[in-house]
Parts: sequence; structure tokens; C-alpha cells
Amino acid sequence: MKTIEQLIRPNIKSLRPYSSARDEFSGEQAIFLDANENPFNKPYNRYPDPYQRKLKKKIGELKDIEAEHIFLGNGSDEAIDLTFRSFCEPGIDNVISIDPTYGMYQVAADINNIEIRKVKLTKEFQLDVDGLLAAADQNSKILFICSPNNPTGNCFPATDILSLLDKFNGIVVLDEAYIDFAPEKSFLPHLAKYPNLIILQTFSKAWGMAGIRLGMAFTSPEIIHIFNHIKYPYNINILTQQTALQLLEKADDKNTWVQELLRQKEQMSLKMKQYPFIQKIFPSDANYLLIKTTAPKEIYNFLVDQGVIVRDRSTVSLCEGCLRVTIGSKEENNALYAALDQYQNK
Ligand SMILES: *Cc1c(COP(=O)(O)O)cnc(C)c1O
Repeated sequence: MKTIEQLIRPNIKSLRPYSSARDEFSGEQAIFLDANENPFNKPYNRYPDPYQRKLKKKIGELKDIEAEHIFLGNGSDEAIDLTFRSFCEPGIDNVISIDPTYGMYQVAADINNIEIRKVKLTKEFQLDVDGLLAAADQNSKILFICSPNNPTGNCFPATDILSLLDKFNGIVVLDEAYIDFAPEKSFLPHLAKYPNLIILQTFSKAWGMAGIRLGMAFTSPEIIHIFNHIKYPYNINILTQQTALQLLEKADDKNTWVQELLRQKEQMSLKMKQYPFIQKIFPSDANYLLIKTTAPKEIYNFLVDQGVIVRDRSTVSLCEGCLRVTIGSKEENNALYAALDQYQNK
């Protein structure tokens, strides 16, 4: 197996990162005349902690993981982009991804001029473990797995993910954006054994903080070190750090929201089964349902006209005819049912 040292891009390995004023000194209770800040307009006048120590400590307690294993980014998207920039040489290296899956891996690959080799899931939306391994060559640096997968909604068996971790000779990114909704356990306890594993989680979904832009990457201190060298020095602003610290006190609320959304998902499933234009509702471990319809575009447009916006996934591979519907509040879901009733009686 290649080491992180062997996988990192040579220019990144030899990079001398920008050293910010708050890198050199990070203590408190001092007179700060080092960063050309304005002494007025507190508390917004000061640069934020570039390493978000307080926030990482709190997240570490919540997740039972040491802060040295935590990277925080401007959404998960930042960690996805940093993974490309850390390990993939533009025009030369490639990455492997399942298909269908979250669209950002493709976009980040395109922006970084990296080939993305997509390996279709099986018809049952399962991992083709052998196919994924066979798609890799000497220049395959990253494998992207999303579980529960977006947009299919299902978790993959831990045995398949472990098998990929044991055999893929590169970085494995496991995107757990929806893990709080899933019956399966997070892979966080496996970090100790796999230094090449990067687990992505986010505050955008179960925690209800999509607006403050905060994503987490959990991985080996070696990879955290690389990310810290490449990221913008002050990538998480003061407002986000402070708000997150406050909102993290609401773990009970988060659990209540998840339970309610899971109940609403059951109800939506039952309700959707009754419509003649809905052919299949795929099992979901996340906070959305993938629904196969007879006329996805027509239904999508009808719903838009009624002021209800869902996601048309009907052109995505293996998702022909499908709409992806996020589970909303009871009132929001009722508005969806009312609109679908109208479509039915049209
Ligand atoms: C929503 C989502 C995310 C979250 O992205 P953020 O940038 O953290 O908001 C990450 N991965 C997947 C698969 C998602 O669907």
C-alpha cells in the first residue's frame, strides 16, 4: 500500500505555507499589534482562529475523537476540493467514483482537470467492489464513496466498504453527510486503522445549519497537516465559529429533528404509494426519498407551478423517471401531497 507520503503531490509536499500572524502566536489575553487589525469594532475586528481550536474541541467531545483528526471547512465542498489539490496532479492523475452519486465530486474533478472514472452501482444500487478496484491504475489517487448515497438514499454494507479500504491503493473518501439519519454506524472508529481514510460529515443536514457553511473531515493527522497547509488561512469566519459553538449545545434538538424527519419519511412513503403515477419508492437511509414516476418532468413542472420544489433526477444514470424529494416539516409535506392530489385530479 502506498503511504500518504507517496500519494501527496510533489509540489504540495515541498510547499512552504503562508504563515499568518495568528499562526505564530495563538494565546489569549495579549495585546495584539501583529496583524494590522483595527482595535475598534469588537468582536468583528479580529481575525478568527485559523485552526478553530475551541470548535474542534467541542466537536471532538461530541464525536469522541481527538482534535488532531479533525479538519473544518467551508462546507464539505472545501474538503472535497482540498483532497483533489493534495493528491491529484492535473492532467495526469485520476479518481474513481461510484455512479450515480453526489455531483460535487465530478465538479471538483473538472475544476482540477482530473479524470473521474465512474463505476456504475448495480441495479440494486449496491457497490460493484471488483469493478471499482478494476477501474484503478497507477495514477488513481482517490476513491469516492458516499453512504448513505445521494441520490439513491441507501447505505452500503460495511463489509463492502472495508473491502475497498483494504484493497484500494490510494485515498478513500467516505462521505457520511446523511449518517445521522441512517441505522448504520459511522466509520469513525475505523480511522485508527486506515490513515488513508477521509470521512466527510457536515452540519448542513441533520444539524440544520446549511446556512453557516461548516463541513467536517475526519482523517489521519498526516492528511490534516496537508489540508492545513493548503487551505485559506482563515477559512472559517468568526460568525460561523461562534454560531456553531452555540448551536452544538442543541444536540438534543438535532436528535428530536432526526426522529421527527424519520417519522415524516415513513408517512411520505405510505402516502406516495397511493398515487397511480408513482411506480416505486426506493428504500432510504437518509432524509429524502428517491421516487420513480411515470412522468418526472411533467410532475416536476406541475409541482413548481404549485410552489413546491423537488429535485428532478430523471436524467441521472439508474434513476430514470426519478424525482428526489427531501423530507420537510409536516406542513411542508402536506403542501406536497395537496399539490400531488391536484396533479392526480387534473
Ligand atoms: C448535502 C451533501 C453534502 C453537504 O455539503 P456541504 O458543503 O457541507 O453543505 C455533502 N455530501 C453529500 C453527499 C451531500 O448530499
